[in-house]
Amino acid sequence: MANLPRERLSIAVQAVASAQQALNLAVGYANQRVAFGGVLSDLQSVRMTLGEMHTEVAVMQQFTDRCVEALNDNDLTAPEAAAAKYKATEVQWDVLDQVLQLFGGYGYMEESPIARMWRDARVQRIYGGSNEVMKDLVGRDVVMSNRDKQSRLARL
Ligand SMILES: Cc1cc2nc3c(=O)[nH]c(=O)nc-3n(C[C@H](O)[C@H](O)[C@H](O)COP(=O)(O)OP(=O)(O)OC[C@H]3O[C@@H](n4cnc5c(N)ncnc54)[C@H](O)[C@@H]3O)c2cc1C
Repeated sequence: MANLPRERLSIAVQAVASAQQALNLAVGYANQRVAFGGVLSDLQSVRMTLGEMHTEVAVMQQFTDRCVEALNDNDLTAPEAAAAKYKATEVQWDVLDQVLQLFGGYGYMEESPIARMWRDARVQRIYGGSNEVMKDLVGRDVVMSNRDKQSRLARL
């Protein structure tokens, strides 16, 4: 039990790294794949998708880094680790699924790196404690903190 926050944070770190790598591959592909007379990145909708994914990964990276610092200071709480695990793996899944879409049929083929990254991303939301259970863990902490606060106020 004591090692669960560390395990969950390690899954979050891997999720962010995987999402960033997929994004790097997607940007490279969008800049070189020619369809309908131009490269994919000439299309505004493709740039918007890339911009959205870039933002999601950057925000997740910040939270995950903060949790790593907390772990190094022996300060990482179980709810923080659960939040990092569930959110990072959801971001990873969303990014991988959109990147596979961007790669088209090639992205689905086993020889494409994206296909293997996409398949491996799927289990991240299950192991280390399923994401539904992670959300409940965070929710219990939120509820209990509020109850403690209310009972302290009631004693004043
Ligand atoms: C590839 C792989 C490697 C693994 N490696 C390890 C390992 O090294 N060590 C180890 O101990 N375990 C390992 N596991 C087990 C893993 O941690 C569990 O699969 C995971 O915790 C989910 O438990 P479960 O499979 O029993 O699903 P269940 O607990 O049966 O859950 C089934 C579904 O019900 C949902 N659910 C369950 N409880 C709730 C709830 N309270 N509220 C809402 N929804 C709920 C779940 O989210 C899930 O969608 C591994 C699993 C896989 C797939």
